[in-house]
Amino acid sequence: MKTAPENGQPETPLVIPVFIMNGGCPNQCIFCNERIAAGDFSPQITKSFFDSRVESYLRWSKDKPRRVEIAFYGGNFTGLPVGMQTLLLSWAGNYIRAGAVHTIRISTRPDYIDAGVLDFLQAHSVATVEIGAQSFNDEVLRLARRGHNAACIRQALILLKNKGFTTGIHLMAGLPGDTKESFVQSLEITASLKPDTARIHPVLVFKDTPLARQWQDGLYHPLGLDEAIHWCALAWETLAPAGIRIIRLGLQITPEMAADGALPAGPVHPSLGSLVQAAVFHSATLKLLKDVPHQTKRLEFSLHPRDISRFRGFRNKNTRAIKKLYPGAQIVIDSGPTAICGRITVNTETTGPFSVDVAGFH
Ligand code: SF4
Repeated sequence: MKTAPENGQPETPLVIPVFIMNGGCPNQCIFCNERIAAGDFSPQITKSFFDSRVESYLRWSKDKPRRVEIAFYGGNFTGLPVGMQTLLLSWAGNYIRAGAVHTIRISTRPDYIDAGVLDFLQAHSVATVEIGAQSFNDEVLRLARRGHNAACIRQALILLKNKGFTTGIHLMAGLPGDTKESFVQSLEITASLKPDTARIHPVLVFKDTPLARQWQDGLYHPLGLDEAIHWCALAWETLAPAGIRIIRLGLQITPEMAADGALPAGPVHPSLGSLVQAAVFHSATLKLLKDVPHQTKRLEFSLHPRDISRFRGFRNKNTRAIKKLYPGAQIVIDSGPTAICGRITVNTETTGPFSVDVAGFH
């Protein structure tokens, strides 16, 4: 899965993704088609390919000093033969020794994590491990043919944290058998386990997958776009207050995904992350206005410049909804120099300023 920061947080590292294309996967999960999701990567990574990819990212970012990580995505890294893991990590290690890259991150399955594996990763400069969890509901995991249960994910995360790794989790919204209730339960368990980061992906139906056949046979119905935005907003509202940074909402659209027939169904949108953030801002605004009478004549909002578009929503959807609730009010949106990122402040003609802080935007 490709990665790109969406929440505008300045400390976001430069991540150089290298896709191992289902390398180390013991089975095919019903939704997975890495060839389309990751894009045009060879299943065999050669050293020259690896070096040219890393160097092109380093050239591109040479004037923007920040933390740099090499990331092995798109498979089950710790399921690869140990010789292959050692080789890939030694290629990445060359850049660490040269001072051009700081650390390595991998994504892997929870059932391929144990204390010995983690010692090996630590000895090879891996600092971050992202776990493909997808759900904490055993029935959802079974239907997705994941081959592990929820207890296994918990165990892996606890072990990783005890060993001092930075941890990430991937969750999917709307897998077969998943309901809003089971998804919220997965979020609550995730919040209690406190990984450092999370990626939330509403399920997309990729062609040439068992899920596509289920969809074709009318046995699977993906979330609609509005539903996906709502579920992802719930994810933000549950995970961000627990201190979990959401580093991705929805998959990055690759050219392969944009090709005809590649994604026959599912809530695909190139700016899903922005739509979700706008939904989170809108629900926080409604909470802020909870006790403000609907006859109010003036609503003067103050926000950090970075939050203005989140507050307004796509094509002013959020401001139009506020106007509907307060038909007689003049709505002013201001971005004063003292405004704090993630804070919505409102003044009315009868009340002084009062605010709400939206978690995850500071
Ligand atoms: S483990 Fe991950 S990469 Fe492998 S088939 Fe399942 S979802 Fe795809």
